[in-house]
Amino acid sequence: MKIESLLSDLIQIQSVNPPGGEAEVAKYLKRLFDEYQIANELIEPSPGRGSFLAHLGEGERSLLYLSHTDVVPVSEGWSFAPFSGEIKDGFVHGRGALDCKGLVAAQAYAVIQLATTAKLKGRLIFAATAGEETGGVVGVKWLVENCKDKLVADFTITEGGWNPMRIGGKVCNFVQTGEKGIIRPKLRARGVSCHGSVPMFGDNAVAKMADVVKGLAEYQPQMVLTPEVRQLIQAVAKLEGLGNEINNNNTDQVIQRLGDRVLAGYLTAITRMTVSPNVIHGGVKVNIVPDSCETDVDIRVLPGQDKEYVVKELEQVISSVEIEITQYNTPTFSSTDNEFYRLVLNTMKEYVDDNIVLPCVSSGGTDSRHLRAIGIPCYGIGMMALNLDDKMRQSIHGKDEKIDIDSLRLKSEFLMQLARRYLGA
Ligand SMILES: [Zn+2]
Repeated sequence: MKIESLLSDLIQIQSVNPPGGEAEVAKYLKRLFDEYQIANELIEPSPGRGSFLAHLGEGERSLLYLSHTDVVPVSEGWSFAPFSGEIKDGFVHGRGALDCKGLVAAQAYAVIQLATTAKLKGRLIFAATAGEETGGVVGVKWLVENCKDKLVADFTITEGGWNPMRIGGKVCNFVQTGEKGIIRPKLRARGVSCHGSVPMFGDNAVAKMADVVKGLAEYQPQMVLTPEVRQLIQAVAKLEGLGNEINNNNTDQVIQRLGDRVLAGYLTAITRMTVSPNVIHGGVKVNIVPDSCETDVDIRVLPGQDKEYVVKELEQVISSVEIEITQYNTPTFSSTDNEFYRLVLNTMKEYVDDNIVLPCVSSGGTDSRHLRAIGIPCYGIGMMALNLDDKMRQSIHGKDEKIDIDSLRLKSEFLMQLARRYLGA
């Protein structure tokens, strides 16, 4: 079996979430793992939403390789068929190639190779789960709540690390050690409706909301440097020859001087709370002054920024609206001060150019949060054989998603080596 054919097959199974259909991917993996006589099972909490689990080896130590089998929908305008899985010019083409079927293929391939070439002295678990793109409710969250023993391991390797970037002329690879939290307030402005021809008799809730949205846009969040982010920005500053000692006061100067605006954007996002009003509903008819208007705000928070903090901050820049928190996930972090993390770093350095591996924090969220919540440290890897250009970075959840075969091989070789070293073989 070739790793690129494995990925091509996975892409051709259209497990678009919503609605999902990940069970078909799980069945495919089941047939494959059965062929190699690797213990495995398919767990299907609701029809069609199956996750696949397998394990190899037995011993005191354990490691979980986690990836997800659902993909986001495709929009118009791709330059190739999004579910063709075509293998051409050294690339495998299609939705999920980068997020996250490429990792599914690399992990599955690594497990199969280890099954045929090594006798592991510890337990390696492989979980390719459903529903990550909609919060893991039918996947990791469900497994943690209903059969967590199947997933429990000393450490997890999963998605979520930034893809490599060239910083100061050097290729840098990243290990994700944490994710920002999510707070979603619904803001509600109330007014008085009346006929649109005599607006002076009413109180326009949409106009009120306009002031609120303007207030949110002008909000100046406070700088927060977690230890890993400080370490990351310090390294970036050094590589770029901006070698100051990083602190809360000069971090923005360093970020502003970076040539790579994508990197600058990431660093801006992980050094402060972000506030983005993304959905607004108000009014029912053009000749009626609206008496209510609602705005859904996407807020991403760092450690120490809980619901109370967010509401207090919002109240400084907005008034005359009700604030209702509709979703709250705490930020989650895993320690960088342990033997396994150092092993990940050192092993990865052997596989990448320029030997630079840095910690990173995700501005978004992955299923790692469900595992970190039960005390399992998670590390996200985004290692690739090539530097992704901006177009390729934007293809994640965007158009023309593809991955190079060299990157697939690199990931799976790294995963094999890491398992051998940590578990013993
Ligand atoms: Zn993903």
